[in-house]
Amino acid sequence: MPEEEKTNRQTIPALALRGLAVYPKMLIHFDVGREMSINALEESMTSNRPIFLVAQKDIRVENPGRDQLFTIGTVSVVRQILRLPGKSVRVMVEGQYRAKLWDLVQTDPYLAAEVEQVEFPKDPELESKGNTLRAEAAIRQAYELFDRYAELTPKNTASEMLMNIMSSEDAGYIADFIAQNVSMRVMDKQSILDELRPVQRLNKMNRLLRREVEILEMEQSIQRRVQENMSQNQKDAFLREQVRVIQEELGEDGENEIAGYRRQIADAKLPEEVEAKLLKEVIHLEKQPFGSAEGSVIRNYLDVCLELPWTKTTKERVNVQAARKILDDDHFGLDKVKDRILEFLAVKQLAPDLKGQIICLVGPPGVGKTSIGMSMARAMNRKLARIALGGVHDEADIRGHRKTYVGAMPGRIINALRQAGTRNPLLLLDEIDKLGSDMRGDPAAALLEVLDSEQNGTFRDHFVELPFDLSDVLFVTTANTTSTIPKPLLDRMEVIELASYTDEEKLQIAKNHLLPKQLKRHGLKKSQLRVTDDAIRESIVSYTRESGVRILERELGALCRKAAMAIVSDGAKQVRATRDNVETYLGPRKYHPEKNGMENQVGLVNGLAWTSVGGTLLEAEANVIPGSGKVELTGNLGNVMKESARAAFTYIRSRAVQLGVPADFYKEKDIHVHFPEGAVPKDGPSAGITICTAMVSALTGIPVRGDVAMTGEVTLRGRVLPIGGLREKSMAALRNGIHTVIIPQENASDLEEIDQTVRSALQFIPVSHVDQVLAHALEHLPLAEPSDLGEIPSGMPEAGTHAPLHQA
Ligand code: ADP
Repeated sequence: MPEEEKTNRQTIPALALRGLAVYPKMLIHFDVGREMSINALEESMTSNRPIFLVAQKDIRVENPGRDQLFTIGTVSVVRQILRLPGKSVRVMVEGQYRAKLWDLVQTDPYLAAEVEQVEFPKDPELESKGNTLRAEAAIRQAYELFDRYAELTPKNTASEMLMNIMSSEDAGYIADFIAQNVSMRVMDKQSILDELRPVQRLNKMNRLLRREVEILEMEQSIQRRVQENMSQNQKDAFLREQVRVIQEELGEDGENEIAGYRRQIADAKLPEEVEAKLLKEVIHLEKQPFGSAEGSVIRNYLDVCLELPWTKTTKERVNVQAARKILDDDHFGLDKVKDRILEFLAVKQLAPDLKGQIICLVGPPGVGKTSIGMSMARAMNRKLARIALGGVHDEADIRGHRKTYVGAMPGRIINALRQAGTRNPLLLLDEIDKLGSDMRGDPAAALLEVLDSEQNGTFRDHFVELPFDLSDVLFVTTANTTSTIPKPLLDRMEVIELASYTDEEKLQIAKNHLLPKQLKRHGLKKSQLRVTDDAIRESIVSYTRESGVRILERELGALCRKAAMAIVSDGAKQVRATRDNVETYLGPRKYHPEKNGMENQVGLVNGLAWTSVGGTLLEAEANVIPGSGKVELTGNLGNVMKESARAAFTYIRSRAVQLGVPADFYKEKDIHVHFPEGAVPKDGPSAGITICTAMVSALTGIPVRGDVAMTGEVTLRGRVLPIGGLREKSMAALRNGIHTVIIPQENASDLEEIDQTVRSALQFIPVSHVDQVLAHALEHLPLAEPSDLGEIPSGMPEAGTHAPLHQA
């Protein structure tokens, strides 16, 4: 080693640093505990020599040798020593310059080291422009990084340090400064100390600082997330506690609500999908703030869903004998209907899995459709639920509204099941013929899905939002007429028709069913109210005019009320209602069958019509007035009916002479035909012969027999064509005191179906031509000149009991 180099070396006390590095020009303090170190400090102080501070490689080593120490350290000056309690001291030192450790010359009582200052040579040539620029860039970067670092470590001193960095242009110094003040691993601290080249040192420091900043940022974001979670949880807990207290104050048990729902869901043995969905809703509910609108929506939803019979059933009884007994007990007559129902049950008994049969009971009001449906439910041991479909014109009525709508409810199907409480009830869909439809959707389409056994296994109500299995529901529908039932619906149903009752049937029903029912309802004993058969007959004839027995039942109810009144207030023991005193109980008679329509009048004819409420007597009036051959038709008539009136008129014009009417009558006369009860719409061709007869009567002035009623379509040439609903029409005729009914020849075979009592009470006259009608309906025949007689119109019978007009 050359001599002059050797002269730069010096031997001074040394101190091994643990986990720490001291940099030139930095003033720092640290605690010292090892005796060896304290001795070195004292030596330095007393001998007024600097001290060599060097880090040891492994901080756990108590007495480090040369090998355990790094090579580069800092020659420093001890500024202050402060004795601490115990043996240790706190020392403040100021770094002077970097030095290389050549050798440890002594280890006891303190370390002494032979060291030599090392420094990056300040060569003006090396300080080229590029180098200064690089230094400048490194300094700026350091500044930015430290700025960020200061932000991330909010210490008061950070901004002062920043000022310090900003005011310096010495890259090496800045690197040292940062290294001294930023917490880093010992290895990294030492590497900054080891680097003598200032710019490289600062670049190295920047890399370390960037890493440190990234770590801090990461830490901070984790911290923030933890904090957020914490505060959200705390907020929730706080709110829930508040709700609990509020509910406690209000006397409500808040916590139990959620628990209650959970328990109900667990108890209900729901299908998996349903259970999962409901539990989800409960969790959702739990998160709702107290009193929120959403909360009550969810509560409502849960309540409805939990009430639904997802799995509950009743054991069905499919026993034809037992069913027959129940049906017979509940209803008089209706043999055909009962047989059809029993057949249906028999099939069910043999093929229990056959699903999707739907019965449609069709008939006028009050003939027992609903009540036989109820009996069926009883006979089969199914629960019963009724849905009135009359006037339903919104699909949502069937399927419900989405639960998010205000006041949303499930549709009628789901509601009915809720009511029934089982998933295999008998659902009675009343008045399916009165379904409407408009722009809010077609309820018939929704019903179609309900009734279709292929689809109804997974019926989805908009409110419930879960598939409900309707395949075990037995659907029974009722209707007054099949004509207005949407065709696709009708195709799926088995139609069973119920006819009007005759007076005799009504009597039996009243005696055996209606009266006992009403007595019971009014709390009367059988002995307290005696009603003779004649009194019932009188009620039927004079107080009702209906196909069924609904009004009769009401009248009997009125009778019971009056009887109850007599017993309670007048102290009567027993009330007897007879033919003669019914008027005192039921008020003045409403109908007078004997008087009605019995008088012969000009231009007034009894027509028979069939409507959805059964048969009715429909009078046609005709009058002739001066005019110009117009035909006026009034009384709320449909097009078909108007056309049939024109056909009748044309026929009369073509046969004017034979009918004894001046051939050119139409030139100066108008005919006006009117059907009373103009508020009731009327249509159909079956009033043709009625209109024709009224016109002829009005034109000829010949009265029409009041005890004759008629029905039949008329053609231009006077043929009489068949009509429908003969059974109902004939009963209407009987109810109205008619004796003779003129019917189309082709309907003669339908007479078979008519009840025996009706058939024997009425005289039926089948005809095939209008002339025959006139022969029977008019008091006498028009007087026609024999010479005016024309050909026999085609379609006329050649012979028969009823003399054709031209033979008169
Ligand atoms: P619908 O549904 O056809 O309009 P309801 O079923 O309401 O008629 O019948 C009206 C009333 O008449 C009910 O009280 C019913 O029990 C009774 N009723 C109808 N037909 C019979 C019958 N054949 N036997 C016993 N009661 C009957």
